[in-house]
Amino acid sequence: MASEKHFKYVILGGGVAAVRIRREGVRQAGRPARGARHHLQGVRTSLYLPARRMASVAPYERPALSKGYLFPQNAARLPGFHTCVGSGGEKLLPEWYTEKGIELILSTEIVKADLASKTLTSAAGATFTYETLLIATGSSTIKLTDFGVQGAESNNILYLREIDDADKLVAAMQAKKDGKAVVVGGGYIGLELSAALKINNFDVTMVYPEPWCMPRLFTAGIAHFYEGYYASKGINIVKGTVASGFDADANGDVSVVKLKDGRVLDADIVIVGVGGRPLTGLFKGQVEEDKGGLKTDTFFETSVAGVYAIGDVATFPMKLYNEPRRVEHVDHARKSAEQAVKAIKAKESGESVAEYDYLPYFYSRSFDVAWQFYGENVGETVLFGDNDPAVAKPKFGTYWVKDGKVIGVFLEGGSADENQAIAKVARAQPPVADVEALGKEGLDFATKI
Ligand code: FAD
Repeated sequence: MASEKHFKYVILGGGVAAVRIRREGVRQAGRPARGARHHLQGVRTSLYLPARRMASVAPYERPALSKGYLFPQNAARLPGFHTCVGSGGEKLLPEWYTEKGIELILSTEIVKADLASKTLTSAAGATFTYETLLIATGSSTIKLTDFGVQGAESNNILYLREIDDADKLVAAMQAKKDGKAVVVGGGYIGLELSAALKINNFDVTMVYPEPWCMPRLFTAGIAHFYEGYYASKGINIVKGTVASGFDADANGDVSVVKLKDGRVLDADIVIVGVGGRPLTGLFKGQVEEDKGGLKTDTFFETSVAGVYAIGDVATFPMKLYNEPRRVEHVDHARKSAEQAVKAIKAKESGESVAEYDYLPYFYSRSFDVAWQFYGENVGETVLFGDNDPAVAKPKFGTYWVKDGKVIGVFLEGGSADENQAIAKVARAQPPVADVEALGKEGLDFATKI
C-alpha cells in the first residue's frame, strides 16, 4: 500500500532556496529570544527531489555546475559544494539534516498538489500532508525538442540544470576529447559553458540570434569586451541566426548543426542554453499567478494561506522599484528563503517582520574574468573604464541612469570593496547632473558614495 506521511512543514524542491529555508529555520531556532518551541528543527520537515532527475544527492550549489564542476583539473565534486558553501556558509552534508530532525526525501517527484486538502502525491503514489507548504521548485530548462527542432533528440545535444546533466557533459567531453563543440545560446549559460569547453580543449563555436551576447543585461559596449575576449581565447562566434536542425551519425551522435541562415557547423557536442521556465504547473488554478510566477506578498506567502513560494518561482513585490518581479538568481533564492522563514516564525510567535527589500544582484565568471551587476538595467547608459578586450587587466563598467539618478551598475574586474561600492550606489540611487562627467569620473563616482 502507498505510504502516507504528515509533516508540519513541507518544502517542495531541493535547490538553493529550499536548503536556505531549512538552514534559516534551524538558525532561527537557535536564537534564545525566539524560544525553542517554534522552529523548523525537530518538527517533521521534508524535502522532495524528483526521481526522473535521479537527484539522489543532498542539495548543492547549482552555479558550480557551469563553473568549477567542468574544470579539466581539480574539478569541484560533491561533497565539496553542498549548500550553503556558495554564500560562505556551513556545508550541509546529509548528516546535518538527520541531526537537525529534518527528513530528506530524495528521488521522489511530486506529481500532484492539492492545496485545498493540503496533500502532495508522489509519482509512486505516496501522499504527504502538511500544515505549511514552501514551494521551491525552481525552473526547468527549455529544450529544442519542445519546439520540434529537427534532429534535436540526437545524442550529445546537452542541457545543464541538474548534477546528472553536468555528469553527462563531463562524460561527453571525455568521449569526444579535443573535438568540436557548438554552444547554442548567448546568455550566461552559453558564455560560461563555452569557456568551460574551451579550457577542456574543444574547438568551440557559439551561435545566437541577437546582435550581441547577454542582450538582456549587456549593452553593446559591455558585450564588445566579452565577445572580443572570447575571440582572443579562440572561440568562434556566429550571431544573427539560430540552430534549425541537427544531423547525427550512424550511432545517433550529433555530427552537424544546421543554421537557419544556411550555414552548417560540424559538432561532436552541442550544448543548449536558451533559457528556463519556472516550475509552477502543479499549482495551476490553485494559486494566483503574475508575470509567469506564483504571486506572493512581501513575506513570500501566496494567495493561499500557509502556502509560500520562494526562489525562481516567486513573483514578489520588489519594494525598491514598487512593482512585482520574478528573479532567477541564486542570491534572491537564498534571501527569499530567509525572509519566508522569518515570516513563518514571526506569525507563529505573534511578532512582525520587515518587508523584503531586495536589491537585484547578478554575477558570472569565466576564464579569468568576473563581473557583478546591481540594480536595474534601464535608462541611459554610461560606459566607464577601458572595455578593450586586449587590455592586460580588464576593469570597466557601466552606469544606468534614469530620471536623473543612477539606478544600476555593472563592473568587470572589481575588487571586493569596489563591488560593495557599486551595490551601495544601486541601492542609494544618487542623483547625477552631468552624464558625461559621470563617464569621466568612472568608478571613483561609486567608491566616493
Ligand atoms: P532550484 O535550485 O532549481 O531548485 C529546485 C528544486 O526543486 C530542484 O531540486 C528540483 O529538482 C526540485 N523540483 C522541481 N519540481 C519538483 C517536483 N515536482 N517534485 C519534486 N521536486 C521538484 N545564478 C546566479 O545568480 N549566478 C550564477 O552564476 C548562476 N549559475 C547557474 C548555473 C547553472 C548551470 C544553473 C542551472 C543555474 C545558475 N544560476 C545562477 C541560477 C540559480 O542556480 C537559480 O536561480 C537558483 O538555483 C534557484 O533556486 P531555487 O531553489 O528557486 O530552484
